[in-house]
Amino acid sequence: MSSTIKYFLPDWEDRLDPKFDFETDEYSRDRAEAYESDVYAHQVFKDPPCDGILISLATFQGGKLPLEKDGLEVNLRGRKTIKGYLKLHKISKPLEVMGDCGAFEYVNEDKPPKHFGTARVAKLYQQLKFDYGVSVDHMVVDFVYKDNGKSKLKKIKLTQEEKEARRKLSIYNADRFINYHREKNLSFVPIGAAQGLNPSTYADSVNRLIEMGYAYIGIGTLIPKTDEEIIDILKQVNVVKNKLSFKQQKNLKLHLLGVVRPKKLKEFVSLGVTSLDSASFLRKAWLRSGQNYLAHDGQWYSAIRVPYSDNENLVANAEKDGITLDKLKQMEKKCLDSLQQYEDKNTTVRRVVNALINYDQLLLRDFDGNHHKDKYEKTLRERPWEKCKCEMCKTLGIHVVVFRGCNRNKRRGFHNVYVLYNEMINGKAKTN
Ligand SMILES: [Zn+2]
Repeated sequence: MSSTIKYFLPDWEDRLDPKFDFETDEYSRDRAEAYESDVYAHQVFKDPPCDGILISLATFQGGKLPLEKDGLEVNLRGRKTIKGYLKLHKISKPLEVMGDCGAFEYVNEDKPPKHFGTARVAKLYQQLKFDYGVSVDHMVVDFVYKDNGKSKLKKIKLTQEEKEARRKLSIYNADRFINYHREKNLSFVPIGAAQGLNPSTYADSVNRLIEMGYAYIGIGTLIPKTDEEIIDILKQVNVVKNKLSFKQQKNLKLHLLGVVRPKKLKEFVSLGVTSLDSASFLRKAWLRSGQNYLAHDGQWYSAIRVPYSDNENLVANAEKDGITLDKLKQMEKKCLDSLQQYEDKNTTVRRVVNALINYDQLLLRDFDGNHHKDKYEKTLRERPWEKCKCEMCKTLGIHVVVFRGCNRNKRRGFHNVYVLYNEMINGKAKTN
């Protein structure tokens, strides 16, 4: 079933060791072999939980990749194309790949760095065989951070003129980008990036991009905006759209860069959005928000922190309390053992949580233990991982809700993406 909206999962080298040993906490491979043996989210699920991947050129040497004309071949760990690099060839459905520069990387600069010149970027998209390439834009943000010369960052408010200059630069770059694309007869689909200071300037940018010949437009700097602000922008964009010919309207595609907002998806679709990307559901798995595991009913659960006993802060705090390293290791083991016993229904929530809190509070002195306790108890009592049929939860069991190292945390992130895609974007998750 094809969805009404395409979801691109942004990738920042999010791979994991498929044979990681959760009992001994050991990798199945050496670090040097990691890229070859590790797998992406689209490889671990029978049905990849996305329609495509968004990857920034900034991922590779900060975007300073060689061009063919320099006599050097693009070499991404031995792969010549982006689809080869992302290991997209042996999966169950074809995924599209969208490229951008990674405008967030240079948001604090006055303009995009030289190596993100439009012609160079277009050549890279072409050489690496991207399906879509976003023009070189500059984010219109309220604040930037600059080095104050004393190795500290100073927060600086951008003026209206500076913001407008960023918007204009994005329009100028988009113009050069599509002209170059036309001149060289390139094969990827060009996406014009629209920036704005408010709904009407966003709409003006979109209008200019359409006039240049773009049929696919990416709307940028949406991450800090509220749902209502995004909808206001889309409404203004629709005023522009409604003035187009029927054919142009039908062909126009809109992409929201960096946001998903599940509750507003229907409204986005009705306002003409055809695709979007967001890594927030993936990354929530390991951000300390208490919302780390997404259940199929839309409820978030806190993951259960079991830090490694060689964690520097943990060791330092334990020392202050007169706890030896051996004792610390025992406490860690007790946490993991109790979780396993709980999974096997051989112990109580209270016992597990006591072991966890005793150990975890050594890591963070200032945290509110009770607050955590309630969240941990809820996760354990409701056992949400048992209700999920995704490959992560089925194979990991309780470990999927354990906050510990990238192999558990990324698997939880992949699970979140699975729920987002199947339940919220397509509404077809297989639940009990
Ligand atoms: Zn799952």
